[in-house]
Formats: sequence, structure tokens, C-alpha cells
Amino acid sequence: MCSFTADLMLFEEASKYFEKLEEISSRLEMIDLLEQMIKNVGKDEIRALVYFTEGVVAPAFDGIEMGIAEKLAEEAIANATGYEKGVVAADFKKSGDLGSTAESMTSKSKLVRMVHNKFTINEVFAVFRKIARTNGSGSKDTKVKLMSELIAASSGIEARYVVRFALGQLRLGAGDATLMEALSKAKTGSRDAKADIENAYNLCSDLGHVAEVLFDGGIDAVKRFKVSIFKPIRPALAERMPTAQEIIAKMNGECSLESKYDGIRVQVHMDKKSKRVEIFSRRQERITEMFPDIVDAALHEISANEVIFDGEAIAYDDNTGEYHHFQETMQRKRKHGIEEKSVELPLHVFIFDVMYIDGKDMINETYEKRRQTLENMLPKEGMLRPTGRIITMDPKAFDKYFDEVVGAGLEGVIAKDIRAPYVAGARKFSWIKMKRSYKGELSDTLDLVVIGYYLGKGSRTSFNFGGLLCATYNNETDMFESVSRLGTGFSEAQMQKLEKALRAIKTKGKPARVLANIEPDFWVEPKYVVTIRADEITRSPMHTCGSTDGKDGTGYALRFPRLVSDGIRDDKGPDDATTTHEVISMFKDQKRIALHGE
Ligand code: ATP
Repeated sequence: MCSFTADLMLFEEASKYFEKLEEISSRLEMIDLLEQMIKNVGKDEIRALVYFTEGVVAPAFDGIEMGIAEKLAEEAIANATGYEKGVVAADFKKSGDLGSTAESMTSKSKLVRMVHNKFTINEVFAVFRKIARTNGSGSKDTKVKLMSELIAASSGIEARYVVRFALGQLRLGAGDATLMEALSKAKTGSRDAKADIENAYNLCSDLGHVAEVLFDGGIDAVKRFKVSIFKPIRPALAERMPTAQEIIAKMNGECSLESKYDGIRVQVHMDKKSKRVEIFSRRQERITEMFPDIVDAALHEISANEVIFDGEAIAYDDNTGEYHHFQETMQRKRKHGIEEKSVELPLHVFIFDVMYIDGKDMINETYEKRRQTLENMLPKEGMLRPTGRIITMDPKAFDKYFDEVVGAGLEGVIAKDIRAPYVAGARKFSWIKMKRSYKGELSDTLDLVVIGYYLGKGSRTSFNFGGLLCATYNNETDMFESVSRLGTGFSEAQMQKLEKALRAIKTKGKPARVLANIEPDFWVEPKYVVTIRADEITRSPMHTCGSTDGKDGTGYALRFPRLVSDGIRDDKGPDDATTTHEVISMFKDQKRIALHGE
């Protein structure tokens, strides 16, 4: 592999950028550095560089992962350096980071080092792709062999990033929004093209591909981006409001009021001619194999030849016809025992949007036109069915419909602007949700990003875990802002699991995209999301959530927060967390409800 190519970026050079990125403490500096790095690669390398920086071998929808666990990486380091596995494991125990262990052991390798021909980022990336594609019997040995060859030919710093990348622990801290801003600056000289890049990304969920188009055809090519089948679209999301009056006022006239089903969001792509169906999750992961029944229904129930649609899959009881709770439906998201579960928990998929049909991109058509298309392509009573809905501009009719659907066991309603396009990848007021939980304590649960954790005291010392520091995502500044310290609601098993997961992503200092005034015992890469319920949102001088919004720098915090998710939410990433602006509007709603007793 290692032929020296003068024009191409060497992995060693990329590693030096990664090292600097890790040390940077401001987002703006991070953008500058990423910009420099992007300017130093050509159009044949930008895809690999983007994936490297994102810490992935391929976009989520490709469904390929490295499949390298710590034990396997330890074995590869041992093979590559001539040390016993036990020595590697002992060094790892001390360093807490297998990347650093790989670096130090490579530097004092017992083996005769191969002549270190420098390799390029594309060459390293090709090996990673090969490792990721190695499956089936004997794959473990092949993976170890490929990894150890790569480590054996690496310099210390390269070995550090090879191992961290393989384990999914790169910790560079650059999110997609930061990367898009850097791409815009590198290629157009200003941040202004970020919106076009983001728009293209929302239509295909593949930033590596968008970057390649940008390098190849410039920003005009990016602007011409269209939806394409089998590339998932980033989902449209809903804002929240607490009353029918406010929602109808915001909709400016008639709206379509749909039932909100609490199940699993599925985006289905179907091409009848090739009999191909793919199903993508809310985070664009490929989940096709988990739902053979949806694949079958998509091929047989839809009258179109080619389609992309958005829906919610929900399990029901075949005897009573009643819909199951979310937790029950979630059991259908599994890797084993798929057929048995599909008999035990049959599904209905309630379809609420169609984004592409028979060669036509529907994204910019009005909601009402998309809805008519959707109704026309579905049978009356199939496994796939349109969401229930009424059209109204009357708050009384709104409330009556809300009560009916909640009475029937559903989660609430989503009002939709009948004139709006499908707003991919954004939470906008063209969809507004109102849930039954809004009538209770704090209007909704929050999905927060873990940015740090505390050591245990007293009885908890055995796991060294004493709670989490959690943040909202500020999607305007692309920063994570602290909002709550969470110490309760954990079971022992959860504490152990959380501590293990967080220990693996500890960072040296506060990550560049974190805004916080308080110091946890350990900072971690903002990666994991947990769901929290609280009694109330309060103003707080301690927390930074929303602190840059007003004049006095006071932030927002949660009163009596407790964990309600079963540990980490693997269906949500940090950019899907509750935003700062949502917390501010929940705070305002809560005040209004208290004042008017609504
Ligand atoms: P939540 O936890 O409230 O579902 P979320 O962040 O996952 O929030 P939102 O966009 O805020 O997602 O709420 C809309 C979600 O509700 C969609 O992601 C979808 O999974 C689900 N849903 C259920 N019924 C509908 C419907 N009729 N129209 C759109 N989305 C629906």
C-alpha cells in the first residue's frame, strides 16, 4: 500500500491536525483549523477526510461499522509491537485510552520496524473500509491481522488515531454543523454557503458525498441537489406548543390536525422494479432487516412504482386491536428473533408524508398535495395506512379531536401547516405537537446530552459514579449548554453501564463546543443522550443554557430532574437533543399556564 504520493494528504499530517483539534478550546478556532485542513486536500480525498473527522467509515445508512472492540484492538497492538497481550492490557489500565497505549507501545516496539513508508489518508481509509466489510466466520482474525499491520506500519501519533478511530473514540469534538461551516469557508471564502451545504446534507444524509460534490462542481452543484431514492432524507421535526388557540394562531388559518402515534419512526424507500426496499431510522440508520413485514407491505400495498415515505410504526394487540406502549413497540427493534416477534407484535405503519414518488421530488410541494398523493397510493385498510386527521381552524374542534385521540391511547396530536413544504432536517413551526403529557407537570420530557460526570460518594463509590452533567443543544451557535446536574433516577445496573460508557469518552479538558460554568469531575465528548423528566424549569445563574439569550447572562435549569430513559438513548444523537430554544419556550409556556391556569 504505502506508495508516497506528493499531492495527497498523508495520514501523519491529518493526525497532527486531529491532535490540534483535540486541544482547541474555542469553536471558532476549530472552524479555522478544519478550514485549513480541508484546503489541503484534493477532490479525491475530501470524502475520506470528512468521514474521518465525523469518526465513521461510511454514512449511517450504509450500515457498515468497524466492529472493533477493545479486546480485539489490544490483540492487534500486541501483535504489532511484540508485547504480550497482558502488557498491553496493563498499560491500557493505566492510560485509560487505548490510543495512547498504542502510541507509546509503538514507540518502544520490540519488533524490527518495517521501513515506515508514509501512507495517505485514502490508503488508511481503504484499510478501515476493508476491516469494516470483513464479516462471517474467521472475520475476527482477519480484522486483527489488518489492524496489526496498520499499527505496525504507523508512527506513534498515527497509531494513536488509528486505534481511536477503530474504536469509535476519536473525540475530535467537531459536529456536522461545524464541519459544514468549515467546508463553506474553505470553498467559498465565507460562511454564507453553509445553508446550501446543509440543505443538500438534509436531502441525502451523507456529508462526505456533499463535500465531494462541492469540490467537484462548486456551490452551484450543491444548490441543485435533489432527493434520491435509497439515500435517507433527514427527518422533519415538530415544534411544541401547549394550547389549541396558540397553535391555530401560529398556523394562520386552517391546519391539518393529525394523530400522534408513539412508536418507531420509519422512512421507507421502495423500488418495485428491482423489488428493493430500504427502511431507515430517525437517525438514518439502515434497519431494513428488522422489519420484513414492512418490506413486504411496501412492495405489495402501494400503488406507486417508486416511493419514499415517512411514517410511524406501532405495535398492536391482535386480539383487542389496541395499540401498545412505546416500550412494547421498541421490542420490534432487534437483531435476533425477528420473525417470532413480528408474529407476537404485529405492526401498523401510519404514514404521514411522501417525499418522492415515481421520479418526482415532492419535498417542495405543499403538505396538502403530498397528503393527497399519499392517500391515493394506499389501500383503505392495509398494514400501511394514512394517519388519522381532521382539517380545522376551530380551537374547540381541535380540543375535541385531541381528547378523542388521547382517549384512544395515543400520545397527542401534531398540527401541520397545509401550505408548507417538507422541511427536511429541521424543527420548524410547520409542524407543531401537543402531547397529553403537556397537561401534567413540566410540559414534556427533555432529551439531554451528557457533557460530564461526577465521582460517587458513600454507597456509590464502588462504581465511581455520582451523576451526570447534562446540556441542551443550541442549534444556532452549535454549542452544548449546561442545564442540569442529575443525581437520581439511576438503577445500579444503569450506573455501572453509564460509568463504563462515559469513561471511554473522557476528554482532557472542557470540549470546545461545551459552554459551562461548572466543572464536573470528568468532561466527556458530547455524544450520548438521556431522557429526563423534571418538575419545573427555573432561571439559574449556574447554568449556561440560554444564558447568551438575555442581557443578564442568567441561564435556565431544571428542578428535581430524574432519569426516565432506560440509560442512554441510542436512537438519538447529540444534535437531536432538546434545544436551548425549546427549553426557553417551554419555560414561557409553563409561566403562561401557571398564570392563566390553562
Ligand atoms: P417526541 O419524543 O415528542 O416524539 P421527537 O424529537 O422524537 O419527539 P418530534 O419531531 O418532536 O420528534 O415529534 C414528532 C415525532 O412524532 C416524529 O419524529 C414521529 O416519530 C412521531 N409521529 C407520530 N405521529 C406522527 C404524525 N402524525 N406526524 C409526524 N410525526 C409523527
